[in-house]
Amino acid sequence: MKLDLSNHPHRRYNPLTGEWVQVSPHRTKRPWQGKQENVPQEKKPEYDPNCYLCPGNSRAGGAHNEDYKSTFVFDNDFSALLPNTPNEEYNKNDLLIAKGEKGICRVICFSPRHDLTLPEMEHSQIRNVVDLWVKEYEELGSRDYINYVQIFENKGEMMGCSNPHPHGQIWAQQTIPNEPKKELVQQKEYYSKHSRTLLSDYLALEMEQDERIVAQNDHFVVIVPFWAFWPFETIVISRRPFARFTDMTSEERDALADIIKQITVKYDNIFEISFPYSAGFHPAPTDGEEHPEWHFHMHFYPPLLRSATVKKFRVGYEMLGNQQRDITPKASADLMNSLSDVHYMNR
Ligand code: ZN
Repeated sequence: MKLDLSNHPHRRYNPLTGEWVQVSPHRTKRPWQGKQENVPQEKKPEYDPNCYLCPGNSRAGGAHNEDYKSTFVFDNDFSALLPNTPNEEYNKNDLLIAKGEKGICRVICFSPRHDLTLPEMEHSQIRNVVDLWVKEYEELGSRDYINYVQIFENKGEMMGCSNPHPHGQIWAQQTIPNEPKKELVQQKEYYSKHSRTLLSDYLALEMEQDERIVAQNDHFVVIVPFWAFWPFETIVISRRPFARFTDMTSEERDALADIIKQITVKYDNIFEISFPYSAGFHPAPTDGEEHPEWHFHMHFYPPLLRSATVKKFRVGYEMLGNQQRDITPKASADLMNSLSDVHYMNR
């Protein structure tokens, strides 16, 4: 019998992390319920006097937000990382090991409007956010003790984000965190064998197969990766292999704003709700090395599974054994491709 990837249980390899995902496509033929009635969607005010991110408001600890008109960035009042941490090492018999870690955490407000999210913002406004990401990556990454700048967004209460005001975070730190570290090892190995980036070859394959692409423009392509773990996981890959935020041309920055708008509109249209996710960029480390192997990309990790309320949990087998999914990435891509490109609120 021939292996049928849309029917037989199998494992898929994630070449970016070197890990495997268990896929069990025979378990769910119908993964999707679509729009459900009675999902409460509150109309938010444009300005909320109690929001600590709205322009002109005060934050915990007595700080005051500027009366900003576009984007706004500040050091997180409850930073998980601090710049003046001692660099000492703790070691008891090579078993109890710890190290001081220096870093800086910042918050970026995407818009002064409390009631907007990225898919509802104008292209020019998202471009302002892209420009700020570039600026912060450059500024933080140029500090000699900062070797990685992780830029991300947690969207929605389901993702533990308590404030609906559109915003993201930056954690810049001394050590390259686990996920980009795995990608560094895998990309380096691939590049040393093929002299091309792993993701440029992967992108070429996906363009050829044309099964899992869900959005594209002149400079970026969005794919439900072959090895996707989350039901509607996607990866945004630049067509030109470059490594850093600061390598982007002005046209590429515009295209990044456009592709973010395209994919987030699609997400909102899946269940006709503001779609929750954790998303973030994987640019090259800022450790002073060249990184010809690194290919700039962005991940979207959304937890929703069958409806606006049915979420994927990582329990049991997934905590103890392996990442696992039921619907195939192609089925997710087909579903996303069947949706309108116009945001459901604007129809
Ligand atoms: Zn990555």
